Amino acid sequence: MKMEPETADFIIIGGGIAGASAGYELRETGKVVILEKECQPGYHTTGRSAAIFQKGYNGGDPALHALIKASEDFLRNPPNGFTSHPLLSPRDLFYITTRENAGALGKLRHNLSEINVGITLLDHQETRQALPHIAEEYQDSALREQDVADIDVSALHEGYLRAIKSSGGKVISNAEVKNLRRQKGPWHVTSTQGEFCAPIIINAAGAWVDQIAEMANISPINIQPLRRTMALIDIPLDIQPAKDDWPIVMDAAEKFYFKPNSGKILITPADQNLTVPCDAQPEEIDIAHAAHCLEKATNMAVNKIDHSWAGLRNHVADGHPVVGFDPQEDGFFWLAGQGGFGIKTAPAMGRITAALIMGHSLPQDILDLGLKEDQICVGRLK
Ligand SMILES: Cc1cc2nc3c(=O)[nH]c(=O)nc-3n(C[C@H](O)[C@H](O)[C@H](O)COP(=O)(O)OP(=O)(O)OC[C@H]3O[C@@H](n4cnc5c(N)ncnc54)[C@H](O)[C@@H]3O)c2cc1C
Repeated sequence: MKMEPETADFIIIGGGIAGASAGYELRETGKVVILEKECQPGYHTTGRSAAIFQKGYNGGDPALHALIKASEDFLRNPPNGFTSHPLLSPRDLFYITTRENAGALGKLRHNLSEINVGITLLDHQETRQALPHIAEEYQDSALREQDVADIDVSALHEGYLRAIKSSGGKVISNAEVKNLRRQKGPWHVTSTQGEFCAPIIINAAGAWVDQIAEMANISPINIQPLRRTMALIDIPLDIQPAKDDWPIVMDAAEKFYFKPNSGKILITPADQNLTVPCDAQPEEIDIAHAAHCLEKATNMAVNKIDHSWAGLRNHVADGHPVVGFDPQEDGFFWLAGQGGFGIKTAPAMGRITAALIMGHSLPQDILDLGLKEDQICVGRLK
């Protein structure tokens, strides 16, 4: 006997931080069902981030700054009962540069001042004092960004999913969406956990968003999955262990960054290799480059790589996120393109999703921070 499809008000495809934040904001408006193809919702990009909250992201991009700022209050003061841990833990961040690239630090300083990100310029003496392990050629000056923090990604993600479930929503793992079609109004979704039906589909499938659109005969947004490598490095015997209160150190032109992690150093060579949607794995050449970046920027010799992984930062052409209904197809909503900023912007992106789905304009507080709808709408890519 053929089973009737399970009905919902919103079917969200993808249980990463994007899908979870959208479901959280919609949970009291209607029944939410999240379909996640993996056995755990944070398996792909969400579980592989560097977990940094910083307002001067991407050289001080004003649109991203508005989304990060709009997320800050939720991350610093989550609602009662959302989590038992703080979502943010303060950590210093210093931007560094070599003498030859001093211009990069000057440019960054200018951009961050333009968007009112709190910064302090350090002279040679102050840089040496703050960053004693930095190589001499990086010691002329540095820039400290204020109010930076580590994000407890799993507490944020779990908090969203828990709240969805306790409002009667469902988060279904091992549920790969295989087919999507509209039938006399609502969308019918075929998954490896059965059939589902809802008037609104939210496409939050990360690197796979264009594949989901293709199932529904909708034109793509040309998402580009860019692989980034993270390497956890054992540091030399004369220095170790890496102290937990060490800062994040970032190249001013974002050619690499590193931070302490459980007594070791976590470094990325900031690689961005275009790939197909996949379970990203680190490549030897990128791991070696990570070690080289650490040796060049510090006085530490890398003897052993403890562990490494890679994740996909999914971007569209202009590097801004994509949020809104598809202009050509009713009830098909895109929530995509969060690149390397999807954790720190999740609270604002979730709120924007809920507002647009309910037929409202962007929340006024986010507009007041300078975000414009045409910077994030789907129409700009179609
Ligand atoms: C190395 C690295 C460092 C980063 N550092 C930071 C940082 O410091 N701060 C920050 O804010 N952000 C950071 N990011 C970015 C952040 O991690 C991402 O923007 C965010 O996780 C994207 O979330 P998502 O939900 O869109 O994607 P995902 O977490 O990938 O979720 C999409 C989900 O969709 C599912 N899916 C796909 N197809 C289907 C299907 N057919 N059926 C059902 N489910 C499907 C997938 O299994 C996946 O779980 C970093 C990213 C990387 C890779």
